[in-house]
Amino acid sequence: MDAKQLSQRLATVGDFVPTGARLADIGSDHAYLPANLALNRRISYGVAGEVVRGPFENAQHEINQLGLSDILVARLADGLAAIQPADKIDTVTIAGMGGPLIRRILEQGTAQLAGVKRLILEPNVGEATVRDWLAANGFQITAERILAEDGHTYEVICADRVDQPVTYLANEQLFGPFLLAEKSPVFIAKWQRELERAQSALAQMHQAKVAPTQNIAVIEAKIKLIEGVLVDAGK
Ligand code: SAM
Repeated sequence: MDAKQLSQRLATVGDFVPTGARLADIGSDHAYLPANLALNRRISYGVAGEVVRGPFENAQHEINQLGLSDILVARLADGLAAIQPADKIDTVTIAGMGGPLIRRILEQGTAQLAGVKRLILEPNVGEATVRDWLAANGFQITAERILAEDGHTYEVICADRVDQPVTYLANEQLFGPFLLAEKSPVFIAKWQRELERAQSALAQMHQAKVAPTQNIAVIEAKIKLIEGVLVDAGK
């Protein structure tokens, strides 16, 4: 993979970036995503934010090598601190991180999110906590994709800022409102695996000398939700 040939995962994230966007890609590593979008004239301006020096230098190198420094800037910063008011960022992508880290980055960057209309997030675990944050902060999920690539399953969540309150039911938060409605084969396979994992974790909890009753209740509720979805899908 490089800026000219994105992975299917990053290309899917890029598909949701509006044409002409002013984009901040947080945790950009090599800046492949913003560089690809700049090369294809899909964005008018982009910030590649990175908290670690090595990946930040990779991003700088990529931007210079591709001759994109008039459109793209790499910044060494924690999370949304990479965004400056003059950037007038309207779209943020955060891909390839755990849901809790994505949530923390969003929580700590409320000020930088003021002008942001669209968030495109690809949490590699803990998607539910991201959906919970979106609903609580006035972002409505407008599209979702699930895909399998190189033995991994990825979920991409696109959310737009709205004026009206947003709420999701427990099952929409866990499975994703659009993914739940679609129930694609990749989705079913993911949740069959998750069900097995949850059942084996539950069995281990029951074997503990002191049963962790609260954890048992949480995992039993999750198992019930997954079983319900799989039954609905005829699995
Ligand atoms: N976004 C790229 C992708 O999806 O292919 C790179 C994903 S890589 C697994 C995660 C990157 O996020 C790493 O380069 C890491 O240094 C960066 N990162 C982690 N926490 C961050 C934070 N708080 N702020 C900015 N970057 C962060």
